[in-house]
Amino acid sequence: MEELAIFGGTPVRKEKIYYGHQNIDQSDVDAAAKVLMSDYITCGPAVLKAEKDLTDYTGAQYATLVSNGTAALHLACIAAGIGPGDEVITTPLTFAASANCILYCGGTPVFADVNIDTYNIDPADVERKITEKTKAVIAVDFTGQAAQLDEIKNICNRHNLIFIEDAAHSIGTVYKDRKVGNIADITCFSFHPVKNITCGEGGAILTNSTEYDKVLKDARTHGIIHRPEDFTYPDLNEGEWYYEQHFLGYNYRLTDFQASILSNQIKKLDGFKKRRQSISDFYRNELKDVPGIILQEQIPESDSCSHLFIIRLDSNIIKCSRADFFRAMSKENIQCQIHYIPVYWFPYYQDKGYKMGICPNAENIYKHIMSIPFYPALRDEDCKDVVKTIKKVAKYYSR
Ligand SMILES: *Cc1c(COP(=O)(O)O)cnc(C)c1O
Repeated sequence: MEELAIFGGTPVRKEKIYYGHQNIDQSDVDAAAKVLMSDYITCGPAVLKAEKDLTDYTGAQYATLVSNGTAALHLACIAAGIGPGDEVITTPLTFAASANCILYCGGTPVFADVNIDTYNIDPADVERKITEKTKAVIAVDFTGQAAQLDEIKNICNRHNLIFIEDAAHSIGTVYKDRKVGNIADITCFSFHPVKNITCGEGGAILTNSTEYDKVLKDARTHGIIHRPEDFTYPDLNEGEWYYEQHFLGYNYRLTDFQASILSNQIKKLDGFKKRRQSISDFYRNELKDVPGIILQEQIPESDSCSHLFIIRLDSNIIKCSRADFFRAMSKENIQCQIHYIPVYWFPYYQDKGYKMGICPNAENIYKHIMSIPFYPALRDEDCKDVVKTIKKVAKYYSR
Protein backbone atom coordinates (compact mmCIF):
# COMPACT_ATOMS: atom_id res chain seq x y z
CA MET A 1 0.00 0.00 0.00
CA GLU A 2 1.18 3.53 -0.82
CA GLU A 3 2.68 5.29 2.20
CA LEU A 4 0.82 8.44 3.20
CA ALA A 5 2.70 11.75 3.13
CA ILE A 6 1.87 12.18 6.79
CA PHE A 7 4.08 9.13 7.47
CA GLY A 8 6.88 10.23 5.14
CA GLY A 9 5.49 9.11 1.77
CA THR A 10 5.43 11.30 -1.32
CA PRO A 11 2.47 13.72 -1.36
CA VAL A 12 0.01 13.38 -4.25
CA ARG A 13 0.64 17.04 -5.11
CA LYS A 14 3.59 19.38 -4.86
CA GLU A 15 1.45 22.49 -4.43
CA LYS A 16 -1.47 22.88 -2.11
CA ILE A 17 -5.05 23.13 -3.38
CA TYR A 18 -7.45 24.96 -1.08
CA TYR A 19 -11.12 24.17 -0.61
CA GLY A 20 -12.36 27.39 -2.24
CA HIS A 21 -11.12 30.37 -4.22
CA GLN A 22 -12.66 33.47 -5.78
CA ASN A 23 -12.93 33.82 -9.52
CA ILE A 24 -11.84 37.33 -10.54
CA ASP A 25 -10.60 38.21 -14.02
CA GLN A 26 -9.59 41.32 -15.94
CA SER A 27 -13.20 42.16 -16.82
CA ASP A 28 -14.01 42.49 -13.08
CA VAL A 29 -10.98 44.73 -12.59
CA ASP A 30 -12.01 46.88 -15.58
CA ALA A 31 -15.57 47.20 -14.30
CA ALA A 32 -14.36 48.41 -10.89
CA ALA A 33 -11.76 50.78 -12.39
CA LYS A 34 -14.35 52.42 -14.61
CA VAL A 35 -16.62 53.18 -11.66
CA LEU A 36 -13.74 54.36 -9.44
CA MET A 37 -12.98 57.08 -12.00
CA SER A 38 -16.65 58.15 -12.26
CA ASP A 39 -18.62 60.69 -10.19
CA TYR A 40 -20.24 58.19 -7.82
CA ILE A 41 -18.28 55.58 -5.92
CA THR A 42 -21.13 54.88 -3.49
CA CYS A 43 -24.95 55.35 -3.60
CA GLY A 44 -24.72 55.75 -7.36
CA PRO A 45 -26.03 54.13 -10.52
CA ALA A 46 -23.90 50.97 -10.30
CA VAL A 47 -25.77 49.90 -7.15
CA LEU A 48 -29.14 50.36 -8.91
CA LYS A 49 -27.80 48.50 -11.93
CA ALA A 50 -26.63 45.51 -9.86
CA GLU A 51 -29.97 45.43 -8.03
CA LYS A 52 -31.73 45.30 -11.39
CA ASP A 53 -29.36 42.57 -12.57
CA LEU A 54 -30.28 40.52 -9.50
CA THR A 55 -34.03 40.92 -10.08
CA ASP A 56 -33.61 40.19 -13.80
CA TYR A 57 -31.59 37.08 -13.02
CA THR A 58 -33.82 35.66 -10.29
CA GLY A 59 -37.24 36.94 -11.35
CA ALA A 60 -37.82 38.52 -7.94
CA GLN A 61 -39.44 41.94 -7.85
CA TYR A 62 -37.05 43.80 -5.54
CA ALA A 63 -33.40 43.59 -4.55
CA THR A 64 -31.47 45.57 -1.95
CA LEU A 65 -27.69 45.47 -2.12
CA VAL A 66 -25.89 45.59 1.23
CA SER A 67 -22.35 45.41 2.59
CA ASN A 68 -22.30 41.66 3.35
CA GLY A 69 -24.47 38.57 3.76
CA THR A 70 -24.72 38.99 7.52
CA ALA A 71 -26.11 42.52 7.07
CA ALA A 72 -28.60 41.03 4.58
CA LEU A 73 -29.80 38.54 7.22
CA HIS A 74 -29.96 41.24 9.88
CA LEU A 75 -32.13 43.50 7.70
CA ALA A 76 -34.29 40.51 6.72
CA CYS A 77 -35.02 39.93 10.42
CA ILE A 78 -35.81 43.64 10.87
CA ALA A 79 -38.21 43.55 7.89
CA ALA A 80 -39.82 40.42 9.37
CA GLY A 81 -40.37 42.39 12.56
CA ILE A 82 -38.35 40.04 14.79
CA GLY A 83 -38.04 41.39 18.33
CA PRO A 84 -37.74 40.32 21.96
CA GLY A 85 -39.99 37.35 22.77
CA ASP A 86 -40.06 36.11 19.17
CA GLU A 87 -38.70 32.70 18.28
CA VAL A 88 -37.14 31.99 14.89
CA ILE A 89 -36.42 28.45 13.76
CA THR A 90 -33.18 27.74 11.91
CA THR A 91 -30.59 25.01 11.31
CA PRO A 92 -27.48 24.49 13.44
CA LEU A 93 -25.47 23.17 10.46
CA THR A 94 -24.62 26.62 9.12
CA PHE A 95 -22.39 29.62 9.54
CA ALA A 96 -23.11 31.47 12.80
CA ALA A 97 -24.63 34.43 10.92
CA SER A 98 -27.86 32.47 10.20
CA ALA A 99 -28.61 32.47 13.93
CA ASN A 100 -26.76 35.61 15.06
CA CYS A 101 -29.08 37.76 12.93
CA ILE A 102 -32.00 36.64 15.14
CA LEU A 103 -30.10 37.67 18.28
CA TYR A 104 -29.25 41.09 16.77
CA CYS A 105 -32.99 41.78 16.84
CA GLY A 106 -33.52 40.45 20.36
CA GLY A 107 -35.22 37.29 19.11
CA THR A 108 -34.52 33.70 20.17
CA PRO A 109 -32.99 31.18 17.76
CA VAL A 110 -34.61 27.74 17.96
CA PHE A 111 -32.67 24.97 16.24
CA ALA A 112 -34.42 22.33 14.14
CA ASP A 113 -32.42 19.27 13.13
CA VAL A 114 -31.31 18.46 9.60
CA ASN A 115 -32.05 15.50 7.35
CA ILE A 116 -29.35 12.86 7.83
CA ASP A 117 -28.89 12.33 4.08
CA THR A 118 -29.30 15.81 2.51
CA TYR A 119 -27.96 17.82 5.51
CA ASN A 120 -30.71 20.40 4.93
CA ILE A 121 -33.19 21.49 7.61
CA ASP A 122 -35.87 18.84 8.20
CA PRO A 123 -39.38 20.28 7.63
CA ALA A 124 -40.90 17.75 10.07
CA ASP A 125 -38.59 18.96 12.83
CA VAL A 126 -39.35 22.59 11.93
CA GLU A 127 -43.02 21.82 12.48
CA ARG A 128 -42.28 20.13 15.83
CA LYS A 129 -40.35 23.18 17.06
CA ILE A 130 -43.18 25.68 16.37
CA THR A 131 -44.70 27.35 19.45
CA GLU A 132 -47.08 30.30 19.84
CA LYS A 133 -43.98 32.52 19.95
CA THR A 134 -42.59 31.41 16.58
CA LYS A 135 -42.50 34.24 14.07
CA ALA A 136 -40.23 33.10 11.23
CA VAL A 137 -38.16 30.27 9.77
CA ILE A 138 -34.66 30.79 8.36
CA ALA A 139 -33.75 27.88 6.08
CA VAL A 140 -30.27 27.53 4.59
CA ASP A 141 -29.67 26.00 1.15
CA PHE A 142 -26.73 24.05 2.50
CA THR A 143 -23.87 23.59 -0.04
CA GLY A 144 -26.08 25.24 -2.70
CA GLN A 145 -28.69 22.49 -2.74
CA ALA A 146 -32.14 24.00 -2.21
CA ALA A 147 -33.75 23.06 1.10
CA GLN A 148 -37.24 21.50 0.88
CA LEU A 149 -38.56 24.95 0.06
CA ASP A 150 -42.15 24.04 -0.83
CA GLU A 151 -42.58 21.96 2.32
CA ILE A 152 -41.20 24.80 4.46
CA LYS A 153 -43.33 27.36 2.63
CA ASN A 154 -46.45 25.29 3.32
CA ILE A 155 -45.59 25.03 7.01
CA CYS A 156 -45.03 28.81 7.14
CA ASN A 157 -48.33 29.47 5.41
CA ARG A 158 -50.25 27.16 7.74
CA HIS A 159 -48.73 28.71 10.88
CA ASN A 160 -48.58 32.30 9.63
CA LEU A 161 -44.77 32.50 9.76
CA ILE A 162 -42.39 34.53 7.63
CA PHE A 163 -40.09 32.43 5.48
CA ILE A 164 -36.53 33.76 5.19
CA GLU A 165 -34.12 31.84 2.96
CA ASP A 166 -30.42 32.10 3.76
CA ALA A 167 -29.20 31.57 0.21
CA ALA A 168 -25.58 32.50 0.91
CA HIS A 169 -24.58 29.22 -0.81
CA SER A 170 -27.16 29.01 -3.53
CA ILE A 171 -27.35 31.94 -5.94
CA GLY A 172 -27.80 30.28 -9.34
CA THR A 173 -29.77 27.33 -7.97
CA VAL A 174 -33.14 26.56 -9.56
CA TYR A 175 -35.83 24.81 -7.51
CA LYS A 176 -38.73 23.30 -9.47
CA ASP A 177 -38.22 25.84 -12.30
CA ARG A 178 -37.98 28.84 -9.96
CA LYS A 179 -34.73 30.62 -9.29
CA VAL A 180 -33.60 30.94 -5.68
CA GLY A 181 -34.32 34.57 -4.79
CA ASN A 182 -37.90 34.35 -6.05
CA ILE A 183 -39.22 31.63 -3.72
CA ALA A 184 -39.20 32.57 -0.01
CA ASP A 185 -40.77 35.73 1.45
CA ILE A 186 -37.26 37.15 1.85
CA THR A 187 -34.03 35.71 0.39
CA CYS A 188 -30.50 36.66 1.45
CA PHE A 189 -27.35 36.31 -0.65
CA SER A 190 -23.68 36.68 0.29
CA PHE A 191 -20.92 37.73 -2.09
CA HIS A 192 -17.97 36.78 0.10
CA PRO A 193 -14.98 35.51 -1.98
CA VAL A 194 -15.68 31.81 -1.45
CA LYS A 195 -19.37 32.05 -2.49
CA ASN A 196 -20.68 31.38 -6.00
CA ILE A 197 -20.09 35.00 -7.09
CA THR A 198 -18.21 37.74 -5.26
CA CYS A 199 -17.42 41.43 -5.04
CA GLY A 200 -15.03 41.15 -2.07
CA GLU A 201 -17.65 41.61 0.61
CA GLY A 202 -21.30 42.08 -0.25
CA GLY A 203 -24.83 40.83 0.20
CA ALA A 204 -28.34 41.27 -1.13
CA ILE A 205 -31.92 40.82 0.04
CA LEU A 206 -34.61 39.85 -2.46
CA THR A 207 -38.36 39.96 -2.01
CA ASN A 208 -41.61 40.34 -3.87
CA SER A 209 -43.13 42.44 -1.07
CA THR A 210 -43.30 46.21 -1.55
CA GLU A 211 -43.58 46.69 2.22
CA TYR A 212 -40.52 44.61 3.08
CA ASP A 213 -38.55 46.31 0.32
CA LYS A 214 -39.30 49.74 1.73
CA VAL A 215 -38.13 48.75 5.22
CA LEU A 216 -35.02 47.05 3.84
CA LYS A 217 -33.94 50.10 1.82
CA ASP A 218 -34.63 52.52 4.68
CA ALA A 219 -32.88 50.30 7.25
CA ARG A 220 -29.81 50.11 5.01
CA THR A 221 -29.28 53.85 5.62
CA HIS A 222 -30.04 54.60 9.29
CA GLY A 223 -33.84 54.41 8.92
CA ILE A 224 -33.65 57.76 7.10
CA ILE A 225 -36.52 58.67 4.77
CA HIS A 226 -36.33 61.07 1.80
CA ARG A 227 -39.93 60.61 0.52
CA PRO A 228 -41.97 63.79 1.26
CA GLU A 229 -45.22 61.80 1.26
CA ASP A 230 -43.94 59.78 4.23
CA PHE A 231 -42.74 62.72 6.36
CA THR A 232 -44.04 62.89 9.94
CA TYR A 233 -43.35 66.65 10.16
CA PRO A 234 -44.22 68.06 6.71
CA ASP A 235 -44.09 71.57 8.21
CA LEU A 236 -40.35 71.21 8.77
CA ASN A 237 -39.84 70.34 5.11
CA GLU A 238 -38.45 73.70 3.99
CA GLY A 239 -36.37 72.45 1.09
CA GLU A 240 -34.79 69.57 -0.74
CA TRP A 241 -32.13 68.99 1.98
CA TYR A 242 -34.80 67.86 4.42
CA TYR A 243 -35.10 64.24 5.53
CA GLU A 244 -36.30 62.37 8.60
CA GLN A 245 -35.06 59.40 10.58
CA HIS A 246 -38.01 57.18 11.42
CA PHE A 247 -36.36 54.23 13.13
CA LEU A 248 -32.92 52.97 14.13
CA GLY A 249 -31.24 51.68 10.99
CA TYR A 250 -27.62 51.06 10.00
CA ASN A 251 -25.03 51.94 7.41
CA TYR A 252 -25.06 48.70 5.44
CA ARG A 253 -24.43 50.26 2.01
CA LEU A 254 -22.27 48.67 -0.68
CA THR A 255 -19.92 50.79 -2.79
CA ASP A 256 -20.55 51.36 -6.48
CA PHE A 257 -17.24 49.83 -7.53
CA GLN A 258 -18.15 46.62 -5.71
CA ALA A 259 -21.61 46.71 -7.30
CA SER A 260 -20.02 46.99 -10.74
CA ILE A 261 -17.93 43.89 -10.03
CA LEU A 262 -21.10 42.12 -8.92
CA SER A 263 -22.93 43.00 -12.16
CA ASN A 264 -20.02 41.58 -14.09
CA GLN A 265 -20.01 38.41 -11.96
CA ILE A 266 -23.76 37.89 -12.49
CA LYS A 267 -23.05 37.72 -16.24
CA LYS A 268 -20.62 34.86 -15.56
CA LEU A 269 -22.77 33.02 -13.00
CA ASP A 270 -24.32 30.50 -15.39
CA GLY A 271 -20.84 29.67 -16.72
CA PHE A 272 -19.58 29.15 -13.16
CA LYS A 273 -22.61 26.98 -12.47
CA LYS A 274 -21.85 24.74 -15.45
CA ARG A 275 -18.27 24.25 -14.30
CA ARG A 276 -19.37 23.59 -10.70
CA GLN A 277 -21.86 21.01 -11.98
CA SER A 278 -19.27 19.27 -14.09
CA ILE A 279 -16.77 19.07 -11.21
CA SER A 280 -19.54 17.84 -8.92
CA ASP A 281 -20.55 15.17 -11.48
CA PHE A 282 -16.92 14.07 -11.76
CA TYR A 283 -16.48 13.81 -7.97
CA ARG A 284 -19.78 11.95 -7.56
CA ASN A 285 -18.95 9.50 -10.24
CA GLU A 286 -15.43 8.85 -8.96
CA LEU A 287 -16.33 8.66 -5.27
CA LYS A 288 -19.70 6.92 -5.26
CA ASP A 289 -18.21 3.44 -4.90
CA VAL A 290 -15.25 4.25 -2.66
CA PRO A 291 -15.66 2.22 0.56
CA GLY A 292 -15.91 4.49 3.59
CA ILE A 293 -16.97 7.61 1.66
CA ILE A 294 -20.61 8.74 1.86
CA LEU A 295 -21.90 11.46 -0.48
CA GLN A 296 -24.54 14.08 0.27
CA GLU A 297 -27.89 12.97 -1.16
CA GLN A 298 -29.29 15.19 -3.91
CA ILE A 299 -32.99 15.98 -4.20
CA PRO A 300 -34.28 15.97 -7.80
CA GLU A 301 -36.17 19.27 -7.27
CA SER A 302 -32.91 21.21 -6.92
CA ASP A 303 -30.92 22.08 -10.04
CA SER A 304 -28.07 23.24 -7.85
CA CYS A 305 -25.34 25.78 -8.36
CA SER A 306 -23.23 23.89 -5.82
CA HIS A 307 -21.11 25.94 -3.46
CA LEU A 308 -19.39 23.16 -1.50
CA PHE A 309 -18.63 19.51 -2.09
CA ILE A 310 -18.73 17.46 1.09
CA ILE A 311 -17.54 13.94 1.81
CA ARG A 312 -18.65 12.08 4.92
CA LEU A 313 -16.60 9.30 6.47
CA ASP A 314 -18.32 6.04 7.30
CA SER A 315 -16.85 5.19 10.70
CA ASN A 316 -17.78 1.51 10.19
CA ILE A 317 -15.14 1.38 7.46
CA ILE A 318 -12.66 4.22 8.07
CA LYS A 319 -10.69 3.37 11.18
CA CYS A 320 -9.05 6.75 11.81
CA SER A 321 -10.71 9.85 13.23
CA ARG A 322 -12.03 12.61 10.99
CA ALA A 323 -9.21 14.81 12.34
CA ASP A 324 -6.58 12.25 11.27
CA PHE A 325 -8.18 11.94 7.83
CA PHE A 326 -8.23 15.74 7.49
CA ARG A 327 -4.54 16.00 8.48
CA ALA A 328 -3.57 13.19 6.10
CA MET A 329 -5.35 15.01 3.24
CA SER A 330 -3.56 18.22 4.19
CA LYS A 331 -0.14 16.52 4.11
CA GLU A 332 -0.94 15.26 0.61
CA ASN A 333 -1.48 18.99 -0.14
CA ILE A 334 -5.26 18.78 -0.45
CA GLN A 335 -6.51 21.38 2.01
CA CYS A 336 -10.04 20.59 3.16
CA GLN A 337 -12.31 22.62 5.45
CA ILE A 338 -15.18 21.74 7.78
CA HIS A 339 -18.68 23.20 7.26
CA TYR A 340 -19.90 23.60 9.97
CA ILE A 341 -19.49 23.27 13.73
CA PRO A 342 -23.10 23.16 15.04
CA VAL A 343 -23.87 26.77 15.97
CA TYR A 344 -25.18 25.98 19.46
CA TRP A 345 -21.89 24.25 20.36
CA PHE A 346 -20.17 27.64 20.54
CA PRO A 347 -19.47 28.85 24.09
CA TYR A 348 -21.54 31.98 23.42
CA TYR A 349 -24.61 29.83 22.68
CA GLN A 350 -23.84 27.33 25.44
CA ASP A 351 -23.80 30.24 27.90
CA LYS A 352 -27.32 31.08 26.70
CA GLY A 353 -28.44 27.62 27.82
CA TYR A 354 -28.61 25.62 24.57
CA LYS A 355 -27.98 21.96 25.42
CA MET A 356 -25.53 19.72 23.58
CA GLY A 357 -27.35 16.94 21.72
CA ILE A 358 -30.49 18.89 20.75
CA CYS A 359 -29.93 18.19 17.03
CA PRO A 360 -28.37 14.71 16.86
CA ASN A 361 -28.29 14.46 13.06
CA ALA A 362 -26.45 17.77 12.68
CA GLU A 363 -23.92 16.71 15.33
CA ASN A 364 -23.42 13.31 13.77
CA ILE A 365 -22.92 14.83 10.32
CA TYR A 366 -20.51 17.46 11.67
CA LYS A 367 -18.31 14.79 13.24
CA HIS A 368 -17.76 12.93 9.98
CA ILE A 369 -17.68 15.51 7.18
CA MET A 370 -15.15 17.58 5.32
CA SER A 371 -15.40 19.93 2.35
CA ILE A 372 -12.99 19.05 -0.45
CA PRO A 373 -11.55 21.58 -2.96
CA PHE A 374 -14.38 22.85 -5.11
CA TYR A 375 -14.43 25.97 -7.28
CA PRO A 376 -14.75 26.69 -11.02
CA ALA A 377 -11.06 27.46 -11.60
CA LEU A 378 -9.98 23.94 -10.56
CA ARG A 379 -8.48 22.20 -13.57
CA ASP A 380 -9.41 18.63 -14.48
CA GLU A 381 -5.95 17.50 -13.30
CA ASP A 382 -6.57 19.15 -9.92
CA CYS A 383 -9.89 17.33 -9.55
CA LYS A 384 -8.21 14.05 -10.43
CA ASP A 385 -5.60 14.69 -7.72
CA VAL A 386 -8.34 15.37 -5.18
CA VAL A 387 -10.05 12.08 -6.01
CA LYS A 388 -6.75 10.18 -6.06
CA THR A 389 -5.91 11.54 -2.60
CA ILE A 390 -9.27 10.65 -1.09
CA LYS A 391 -8.95 7.11 -2.48
CA LYS A 392 -5.37 6.83 -1.19
CA VAL A 393 -6.21 8.01 2.33
CA ALA A 394 -9.50 6.08 2.53
CA LYS A 395 -7.81 2.87 1.42
CA TYR A 396 -5.01 3.29 3.93
CA TYR A 397 -7.40 3.75 6.82
CA SER A 398 -10.03 1.20 5.77
CA ARG A 399 -10.72 -1.59 8.21
C1 LIG B 1 -21.22 33.20 4.21
C2 LIG B 1 -22.48 32.92 4.90
C3 LIG B 1 -23.20 33.92 5.58
C4 LIG B 1 -22.68 35.30 5.83
O1 LIG B 1 -22.27 36.00 4.74
P1 LIG B 1 -21.14 37.13 4.88
O2 LIG B 1 -21.19 37.79 3.54
O3 LIG B 1 -19.85 36.43 5.14
O4 LIG B 1 -21.54 38.05 5.98
C5 LIG B 1 -24.43 33.58 6.11
N1 LIG B 1 -24.92 32.33 6.02
C6 LIG B 1 -24.25 31.34 5.41
C7 LIG B 1 -24.87 30.00 5.33
C8 LIG B 1 -22.99 31.60 4.85
O5 LIG B 1 -22.32 30.60 4.28
